[in-house]
Amino acid sequence: MGTGKVIYVDNNATTKVAPEVLEAMEPFFCERYGNASSMHTFGGSVRHELDAAREQVAKLLGAMPGEIVFTSCGTESDNAAVIGTLRANPEKRHIITTRVEHPAIRSLCQYLAKERYEVTEVPVNRQGELDVDLLADAIRPDTAVVSVMWANNETGVIFPVEEIAEIAHAAGVVFHTDAVQAVGKLPINLAKTRIDLLSLSGHKLHAPKGIGALYVRRGTKLTPLLIGGHQEHGRRGGTENSASIVGLGKAAELAVEHIVDENTRVKAMRDRLERRILESTPDCFVNGARDERLPNTANISFEYVEGEAILLRLDELGICASSGSACTSGSLEPSHVMRAMGVPFTAAHGSIRFSLSIYNTDDEIDFIAGHVPRIIKDLRAISPYARK
Ligand code: PLP
Repeated sequence: MGTGKVIYVDNNATTKVAPEVLEAMEPFFCERYGNASSMHTFGGSVRHELDAAREQVAKLLGAMPGEIVFTSCGTESDNAAVIGTLRANPEKRHIITTRVEHPAIRSLCQYLAKERYEVTEVPVNRQGELDVDLLADAIRPDTAVVSVMWANNETGVIFPVEEIAEIAHAAGVVFHTDAVQAVGKLPINLAKTRIDLLSLSGHKLHAPKGIGALYVRRGTKLTPLLIGGHQEHGRRGGTENSASIVGLGKAAELAVEHIVDENTRVKAMRDRLERRILESTPDCFVNGARDERLPNTANISFEYVEGEAILLRLDELGICASSGSACTSGSLEPSHVMRAMGVPFTAAHGSIRFSLSIYNTDDEIDFIAGHVPRIIKDLRAISPYARK
């Protein structure tokens, strides 16, 4: 896109940095650039800001500040959780996860399977829902960790992670959840759950890219992934990314304020977009369970057209959406999530994800809903697969 107006509905891929977040970060580049671990006051004073950010993130999660470890991204948090648990429990070599995890867990588990760990991937049904009994049955005496995402990045489908955490806990197994898509969109109170480890990523909640956090319940055995200095109480080596940590703290504070808006206004916009598209366009349907779903995500399959072609037409109008997940687009294969759900090939191919944020407006939604039917009609007119 050049300088034209952009309608950004790809917030599950990444989000705009909130202006308040940028403002909070600004002093930490050229003025307060000291190292938080330094003895001098100039650096040491930054430590207080990091502690404040830790409190803000803890508050968003219903956790204690000491349970928050800052990392570089969601992927690092996921890797640190799974690898750290395996290393801390070397006698156990079995991992349970699902077929629809983000590559930060799925590819990691596939790698670990080559390293002589055993991995059970629990399937999902046509609605993208998990069979919890099947997961419970997969737990064995040598299961080290169960890792299940809180919400799916492609469909928005929410998994019952609190219930699964109870099951894992009862079996004495560590439970990790990749909550990268859930944090900031769903109310979370970890104190009321048995979740041991939780990953989040700054750039999905209006903080910058390159900052994340891992919640580690007090008492959870975890070997650090990055071994180095004593930062993060010895749980993650590396000089703290102070500007981004402060930014994540501010984003967490804003997320607490915006959670109601996210679940009312944003949800209403998503529902209206979905309804208007479904009413005006034949042969299309929503992927994923309709109720247990993130408030901001709509994944719609358009039969007989290619998602990439739709994206290009949307792009010409300045509309930024996604087909499948950003990580899997670029290849024409339907995503592993669509395949795991058993979405027919032609429909999976034509699936588009619209993911909204608090920065979207009703006018933008009307603009998108007004253009989609025409785009689909045009593309079907030239599609060799279309039912004419
Ligand atoms: N987990 C989920 C569910 C995600 O959607 C993403 C990013 O798309 C990640 C993990 C990876 O996060 P990051 O980009 O911060 O590494």
